[in-house]
Amino acid sequence: MTRKINIFDTTLRDGEQSPGASMNTEEKLIIARQLIRMNVDVIEAGFPISSPGDFKSVEEIGRIAGDACTVCGLTRAVDKDIEVAAEALRTAKRPRIHTGLGVSPSHLRDKLHLTEDEAIERAVRAVKLARNFVDDVEFYAEDAGRADQDFLVRIVEAAVKAGATVVNIPDTTGYNLPWAFGARIADLRERVDGIEDVTISVHTHNDLGMATALAIEAVRNGATQVECTINGLGERAGNTALEEVVMAIRMHGEELDAHTDIVTQELTRASKLVSSITGMTVQANKAIVGANAFAHSSGIHQDGVLKARDTYEIIDPADVGAGGSQIILTARSGHAALRHRMGELGFTFTDEEFEDIYQAFLEVADKKKEVYDEDLESIVHERERVSTAVWNLDAVQVSCGFPLTPTATITLTNMGGETFTACAYGTGPIDAAYKAVDQIVAVANDLAEFSVKAVTRGIDALGEVTVRVTAENGEVYIGRGSDGDIIVSSTKAYLNALNRLISDQAR
Ligand SMILES: [Zn+2]
Repeated sequence: MTRKINIFDTTLRDGEQSPGASMNTEEKLIIARQLIRMNVDVIEAGFPISSPGDFKSVEEIGRIAGDACTVCGLTRAVDKDIEVAAEALRTAKRPRIHTGLGVSPSHLRDKLHLTEDEAIERAVRAVKLARNFVDDVEFYAEDAGRADQDFLVRIVEAAVKAGATVVNIPDTTGYNLPWAFGARIADLRERVDGIEDVTISVHTHNDLGMATALAIEAVRNGATQVECTINGLGERAGNTALEEVVMAIRMHGEELDAHTDIVTQELTRASKLVSSITGMTVQANKAIVGANAFAHSSGIHQDGVLKARDTYEIIDPADVGAGGSQIILTARSGHAALRHRMGELGFTFTDEEFEDIYQAFLEVADKKKEVYDEDLESIVHERERVSTAVWNLDAVQVSCGFPLTPTATITLTNMGGETFTACAYGTGPIDAAYKAVDQIVAVANDLAEFSVKAVTRGIDALGEVTVRVTAENGEVYIGRGSDGDIIVSSTKAYLNALNRLISDQAR
């Protein structure tokens, strides 16, 4: 049997730190359910002291995870951080506190103002305090990739002695070449007393496009946990992409003496889900999960793949769940069929909720005949957006064309049940609709980005619109909406972003 490599997913913590990718608790729970279905070993659910939202997410994810995986909360090596994380993790059956501090010369000197000995003292204190609350404590040596190796050996050894069960060696800035990083891991294994009793984890970034290579080289040199995110989401150039690491280990398990327990057939779905929730699109030529990852357009390649798939394809698309959904529902699919498929997709509803969902499904099925899994997910997410909204869309009507002046009439209802109607003209129908919304909602903002994509194939596909608006204080809010009519989905998306802005700024 090869070594088991633990997959530590930090989409909800490091991934969420991507500019504009912030998620609310409900959205994090949707992703967490998918991570559980995919069988990740650890979910890093947030940084509890950083905000009430992060605290709540860690708490809620701890509640749904049960025995399925470890739930981890991030802290600095600060007492209060650790106490708050422990509090948030009380719901988790398998809680882990992730604590540590910067260890490179620039972190010690410029950020923390600590000598090496003081840093070691702080690390030991943090690990010991965390161990008072939980049995599973991961110590991170931030910016280990640029640390003095002798000092790294000393601080890691001190953390292990203090009770750390996992030591995380991050290349925080994505600076290393793979073999240099691998050599650091090999050196730690050789020189750190007690290292054989703990898990060595690596956390790498993609600044030089080598995050996956760094992680794999670390695995080859003895690391048995990899920290990564779906789609490589994360600050700057992002984190190591989970799907890449998992598939590289799967392709080369024997050589690496390694395997993971990830259900690879769920990778594509996880990728789409994270992209749709964060509004961060995946580049078409992205490894494993890009839209073109299994597309062959050159005639020679197509011919080759048709004769024998492995001529030009190293991965069977079915192994990563690509190639479209197999199950198609229609308007004739009854309650039982819909409920069954929704269950398989991981959604459960009360009878009352389900009736709503069924009506929405019928509307979509009437319009587009064939309903795919992606459509079902869209229906559920649309309903979630509506149920938490400050303002809901009752009606939108536009007139446009050449040489008409595009105009829009919008009717909205607020939480108190009051209804308002406004009319505006603009440079196009969407601009007109947004101006009419602005007249009613009246909250200052800038529309920073607008993008539209089809949820599934075909001209009758649901259109999903993502917008980003910037509030007066500079905060960015994402909004999404889906509908068969692009004007309707655009208006829903804008309203969704404004709803988030309003509820966030009210807190
Ligand atoms: Zn990071």
